[in-house]
Amino acid sequence: TIGLIAIDKDGHMAAGTSTNGLTHKVPGRVGDSPIIGAGAYADSSAGAAAATGDGDIMMRFLPSYLAVELMRNGADPSVACKSAISRIKRHYSDFFGAIICANTTGHYGAACNKAPSLTEFHFMVQNSESDSPVLKSVTCF
Ligand code: ASP
Repeated sequence: TIGLIAIDKDGHMAAGTSTNGLTHKVPGRVGDSPIIGAGAYADSSAGAAAATGDGDIMMRFLPSYLAVELMRNGADPSVACKSAISRIKRHYSDFFGAIICANTTGHYGAACNKAPSLTEFHFMVQNSESDSPVLKSVTCF
């Protein structure tokens, strides 16, 4: 999945995902990516989030919606991302997944569930602080 969050100069927020789905998926499978609140969610009055990973598990928890609602209540984007992952982790400790979050002020964060093939999650950030996109990473927990 490619997930993205954008904020324009007037504070409008958007989030989106593009995915080829899971390997060996059954024909007709609809994963988390196109489900609002699961793959992505945005509300210009609160924040935006986008997720990647095992959609069959993640879509049962609406992690993007949860993260945005936590930011609405004042959570820092990193904390909101972590909480959304933690909610899933409680039920599926070894699931494969990550999420990016940004609030209305442009602060951002990300989180991922530590798995054998996922110990660090990389994402790109472009804002007024640099001329070109900057590679960021978080350590999975
Ligand atoms: N979340 C996607 C899906 O389950 C896969 C991915 O993130 O790569 O369809």
